[in-house]
Amino acid sequence: MYDLHSHSLCSDGALSPQAVVLRAKDRGVTTLALTDHDTLAGYDEALEAAADCGIELVSGIEFSCLWSGMGVHVVGLNFELDSISIQKAVMAQQEVRLKRAELIAAKLSKAGVQDALTGARKFAGAGTIGRPHFAQMLIERGHVATMNMAFKRYLGAGKPGDVKQMWPSIGEAVDWIVAAGGVAVLAHPDKYKLTRTKLGRLLAEFREGGGQSMEVISGRQQTVTTRHLSQTASKYELYASCGSDFHVPGQPWQELGAFGELPEGCQPVWQLWQ
Ligand code: AMP
Ligand code: MN
Ligand code: MN
Ligand code: MN
Repeated sequence: MYDLHSHSLCSDGALSPQAVVLRAKDRGVTTLALTDHDTLAGYDEALEAAADCGIELVSGIEFSCLWSGMGVHVVGLNFELDSISIQKAVMAQQEVRLKRAELIAAKLSKAGVQDALTGARKFAGAGTIGRPHFAQMLIERGHVATMNMAFKRYLGAGKPGDVKQMWPSIGEAVDWIVAAGGVAVLAHPDKYKLTRTKLGRLLAEFREGGGQSMEVISGRQQTVTTRHLSQTASKYELYASCGSDFHVPGQPWQELGAFGELPEGCQPVWQLWQ
């Protein structure tokens, strides 16, 4: 049972890397990738936990990047953890995240939310800061009641906190992963709300640039979505990946190991490293 997309408190997840590994093991996952946003900070701890409890851990990361002016996510799998390429990429992305957080705070201040950075930092702790931490701050201060509302009003597409122009291109993110000997996977293609034509263009360009795989399954999803994405993967000759995109306990649609099997006819991404 492969779960190749998950988060810890090193980015916007709620559990420690060790707790994510143990929870995955408890839920029947046999091979896990921890794919924190733009950081590898959880890997030492996760590797130790994985060795202790007997689960296979594949290296992983989720890079934020841009395609056609849109924010998209590329997951890197099974790369060399100590590769210079990936280490440099992580440093560059961390810098972008910090600058972006300052810009988000400046924009939120114009929207009536003062000192947003201090508030968001508190929730990010030692992990990489992201919009979910701003969302937690907005809830804490009573600006909104839920994460969803925070994104709808302040942080989602077209809102003040939607700052994405600083991210690298999708081609750069793919290059980093490939240079580190890994597999580049387009994350959750269904989340971008693209027309079939536009998704086709994204996938064709992604593959042209060295991307080899796309997520056919991202958490609990409708059968019709799985079928469509599996056909799409075949059409663009991409290997199929699957993962929960786990962040916090209590969200059954994004729970470790809790998703359907890849349909027949898919080429599972792990064929590339087995
Ligand atoms: P960032 O990486 O800072 O751009 O933040 C993106 C993250 O925010 C995603 O990885 C999700 O974990 C989270 N997210 C995006 N949209 C929503 C939403 N509508 N409600 C809750 N969390 C969201
Ligand atoms: Mn996230
Ligand atoms: Mn993502
Ligand atoms: Mn994710």
